Amino acid sequence: MDTHIAYISVGSNLGDKLGYCRRGVEALAADGRVRILAQSRVYRTEPVDYTDQDWFINRVIKIETDLGPLPLLARLQAVQQALGRTAPAVRFGPRVLDLDILLYDRLVFEDPRLSIPHPRMHARRFVLTPLCDIDPDVVHPILGKAARTLLLELGGEGQEVVEYRCSG
Ligand code: ADP
Ligand code: MG
Repeated sequence: MDTHIAYISVGSNLGDKLGYCRRGVEALAADGRVRILAQSRVYRTEPVDYTDQDWFINRVIKIETDLGPLPLLARLQAVQQALGRTAPAVRFGPRVLDLDILLYDRLVFEDPRLSIPHPRMHARRFVLTPLCDIDPDVVHPILGKAARTLLLELGGEGQEVVEYRCSG
């Protein structure tokens, strides 16, 4: 079977945030098409795009899957909905669970529904910090730079990322 490696950003900023992240990852792995290979540490992160909202809990996971990019997106959206996410009132606004595809092999994919690599990943500390926990050498296929380099190059005021202790 043809398998692929992908990195998924997992985030929540409503209710039991860590619980939603954990249950989201469990649900993703439940149907056997997605295998969790690694999980980053958990972080508390300052909201960046729409700042008038609570801090997020974020982590990144590395998966192996036989799903193509669009079926994988559909799977992530099904899990988001199963955990109670409704359409957000505000773009980038509060959500119980956000699952985004960051990287998928070394694929560059552009479609109205899906962009890979995730178009904002290289500018987001809450993505790059956990990604570097798992795989600092993974290369962004458009920018041609490793995750650790992108993190070092980040300026970005107001992007606080703090390890969330007592977690797993
Ligand atoms: P956010 O940008 O904050 O993650 P949403 O989760 O509401 O916002 O996603 C909005 C849309 O982004 C989704 O409906 C999806 O079709 C699209 N999208 C484009 N690229 C990606 C990606 N790499 N991962 C997840 N969703 C994506
Ligand atoms: Mg999303």
